[in-house]
Amino acid sequence: MTYTHKTITELRHSSPAQAEFYQAVEEVLDSLGPVLESNVIYQRQAIIQRIVEPERQLMFRVPWLDDNGNIQVNKGYRVEFNSALGPYKGGLRFHPSVNASIIKFLGFEQIFKNALTGLPIGGGKGGANFDPKGRSDNEIMRFCQSFMSELYRHIGPTTDVPAGDIGVGAREIGYLFGQYKRLTGRYEGVLTGKSLLWGGSLVRKEATGYGAVYFADYMLNARDDSLKDKRCLVSGAGNVAIYAMEKLYQIGATPISCSDSAGTIYHSQGIDLALVKQIKEQQRGSLIEYLEVHPGAEYTPVADYPTDGHAVWRYAADAAFPCATQNELTKADAESLMAKGCQLVSEGANMPSTQDAVDVFIDAQIAYGPGKAANAGGVATSQLEMAQNASMQKWTFSQVDQQLQQIMKSVFVTASETADEFGQHGNLILGANIAGFRRVADAMIEQGVV
Ligand code: GLU
Repeated sequence: MTYTHKTITELRHSSPAQAEFYQAVEEVLDSLGPVLESNVIYQRQAIIQRIVEPERQLMFRVPWLDDNGNIQVNKGYRVEFNSALGPYKGGLRFHPSVNASIIKFLGFEQIFKNALTGLPIGGGKGGANFDPKGRSDNEIMRFCQSFMSELYRHIGPTTDVPAGDIGVGAREIGYLFGQYKRLTGRYEGVLTGKSLLWGGSLVRKEATGYGAVYFADYMLNARDDSLKDKRCLVSGAGNVAIYAMEKLYQIGATPISCSDSAGTIYHSQGIDLALVKQIKEQQRGSLIEYLEVHPGAEYTPVADYPTDGHAVWRYAADAAFPCATQNELTKADAESLMAKGCQLVSEGANMPSTQDAVDVFIDAQIAYGPGKAANAGGVATSQLEMAQNASMQKWTFSQVDQQLQQIMKSVFVTASETADEFGQHGNLILGANIAGFRRVADAMIEQGVV
């Protein structure tokens, strides 16, 4: 605890005004007490001081012309956080909320998540404070081209391999890749999440959502239970939420909610997934349109959310899958979920639960899968895409899906055995943090002070 305190105090000085980053660091360090005490080498090697400082941080201007011929300027980021285990790996987020704190928290989480997969990938993250909402296809293209015009000189298939995150999907990856190829003349696996037509991997699109559901099922199996027939709250309506809902249906569970930045849909008989896909993937529209087809569903606009949380977590359900964004599930939300009988939380998003919400889950001893374990399927499948690109192969859907399931199983087993080793049975946040940390820290020690 004193360790955490000291580190956060130092970070507040050296990296001011980065609340989300401190939150992510605090969550990891709070788990590490027993490891740091029993392994003086980590202290002697200044692993904590080194691991909280990115190896490199890039910030750059992204100027572009909108459709009216006006000049727009955004701020671009790439934080190359840790390369002890492999090339920097992590997505790009395009969202108006993006700032250095958000990118650093995501990059920090990514280090441990990637380590936990057991695959040879380091941690990084990037993005821009660009709001894709309401922008034309041409504007998106010009923005991506401008963004890549700076980023290309810092990335490469063996150095740093970006992918998607919020606001960055196959369309954006396509424009980014096109510009990278134009500037470098190289056709190589420098980005993941590519189209299936030209180097993408089957299952990558589905992987984060599917993975969060596989992980949830493994957690329940260990408690002699399963997701079958469970009623599940899901937040978000992007890539992660949509494919979590798809997998829930496939294994006999029922997703009963989803949400976007404007509001929440609750549909007791089960979400009409084909309709959500049509609204979100094809029309890029708003979830309120769901009511045009299903007037019986409930819609809560953001203005009517409880002041201390999110409408979606106030319904009764057996399980919850936060698949939208950071800090979308508060302590009051967690208490409401527990009071209404929720037995499982599996995080498809990165750090969706506030620290005090996590405490509620740990105290209640429910099956709680923290994001860096439960949503590791996305980045793991990105690494499978890299492997296919490097070996010039293309694997089938079931080959990739089987590997994804194996990786999620191994993430679960590693986190849960590590929790047991430290006498905290079932505490997967502690297990995930310690297991991820040990792998990175040991690699750092072997590679010397670099
Ligand atoms: N953005 C995703 C994550 O948070 C995926 C990153 C990747 O595929 O590199 O893990």
